[in-house]
Amino acid sequence: MSQHHAPARTRVAPSPTGDPHVGTAFMALFDLAWARKTGGQFVLRIEDTDQNRLVPGSEQQIFESLDWLGLSPDEGPREGGSHGPYRQSERLETYAPFVEKLLASGHAYLCWCSADRLKELREQQQQSKQAVTGYDRMCLGLTREERAQLPGFAEHPVVRMLVPDDVPLEFDDLIRGRVSAPRPDDQVILKADGFPTYHLAVVVDDHLMGITTIVRGEEWISSTPKHLLLYRWLGFDVPQFAHMPLLRNTDRSKISKRKNPAARLLWFREQGYLPEAVRNFLQLLGYPPSADGEEVATFEEFVEHFSWDKVNTTGPIFDLTKLDWLNGHYIRDLDPDELADRIIEWAKETGEWPEKPSKRHVELLRGATPLIQPRLTRLNEALPQLDFLFAADDELEVDDDAVASLRDDAIPVLETAIVEVEAAEPFSHEELMARLRARLVDEMGIKAKFAFAPVRVAVTGRKVSPPLFESMELLGRESTLVRLRALHARLLEAATAEG
Ligand code: GLU
Repeated sequence: MSQHHAPARTRVAPSPTGDPHVGTAFMALFDLAWARKTGGQFVLRIEDTDQNRLVPGSEQQIFESLDWLGLSPDEGPREGGSHGPYRQSERLETYAPFVEKLLASGHAYLCWCSADRLKELREQQQQSKQAVTGYDRMCLGLTREERAQLPGFAEHPVVRMLVPDDVPLEFDDLIRGRVSAPRPDDQVILKADGFPTYHLAVVVDDHLMGITTIVRGEEWISSTPKHLLLYRWLGFDVPQFAHMPLLRNTDRSKISKRKNPAARLLWFREQGYLPEAVRNFLQLLGYPPSADGEEVATFEEFVEHFSWDKVNTTGPIFDLTKLDWLNGHYIRDLDPDELADRIIEWAKETGEWPEKPSKRHVELLRGATPLIQPRLTRLNEALPQLDFLFAADDELEVDDDAVASLRDDAIPVLETAIVEVEAAEPFSHEELMARLRARLVDEMGIKAKFAFAPVRVAVTGRKVSPPLFESMELLGRESTLVRLRALHARLLEAATAEG
């Protein structure tokens, strides 16, 4: 119950090192849910201290992807807030006093070991299969001058934590209960370039930003003992931890951008998924459906029933069939006009349509959206299904197989259809259907299945299409006639050539 919880401050802390990862949205969803549930705030912090890995534009993509999913933060580099700056690169002077404090209290020490020496050390340890691995504390207790006498000396030192023998390895996790982690190495907290490592920066920033609940992936469990030491040494209150399960591919391997296109958050948008479906999907990956098995749930419903102990701990499988199903559901739930807007927006974003599409195309799309809505799974399927509507009559591609599949009576069928289309008044799908049915099925005695096939192939170029009479009405009498006559002429020509 919300009244039992103090307002939580949560944060998501992505590194802007490429296309945003789907994991960022997964964390953000649970961060935001908890912040909303407790009446607190959700913070976005950009962890950009690894200057070598920065990718320009990546930060902007993080903002946009979170906005798109309805997971915008309350505070962040763009929103501002009273706990800024929210980019670690703008907080560099923040960390120095804490490093000084740790050095002064003897919890940290300078290390001048060169990269080569550390590499050698690692190799030796691997070869000799030593039980104790990690840094051997060569520099501990030495002055710069003393250390400079020894091999493998580097000019610029790093700062390492002096991890004590009795380092606590267990902690409470909101999702997992009591968790235990392996003993950590003497972790570097300040790099030779003066930048803090993740471990120092995350602890200092989470503290200064008043974060009460740290939601992050389970791959960080093994880092938590180091963080707990830093909290203790620096005299900070320890926040709560919620380590979310790793998202997995259907073969159970960890989801990565290299292996799975869906690891890229932008992929969902490109493929024509609706943000509400993606959000619901991420929700289901981490959280069981409601008691009655209902998988479709709004964010508000999710928040209302949210409780950490219900979050999954086993790696949720990234099952796109489920996402497709959800997307279809949300598509059918939209008002057709809203769906048309979304298709247009998608077409512009992906460059399928120009920024200013023609009025006729927009009108055709609006008219045709209700026809395709019942069977549409993703927005990217809409334009291919409707390409015949947008094609100029003389550029309509008529599928050869579809033509070849027509029976001999296609020529008289088309002749009759032309007469009826010329005469139909009003030019509505009801009128068209009534006339064609009366003449072709009732009078000529052709089964409906065969009677309309030539008309469909003529008008849409295909054997399978959105509802035929509605499509004819949308195209209008002139276009419909041009297309019926074109196929009629083609069939006649073929018949003459054969005969
Ligand atoms: N910058 C880290 C990441 O990209 C954040 C981890 C955390 O949430 O503590 O995963």
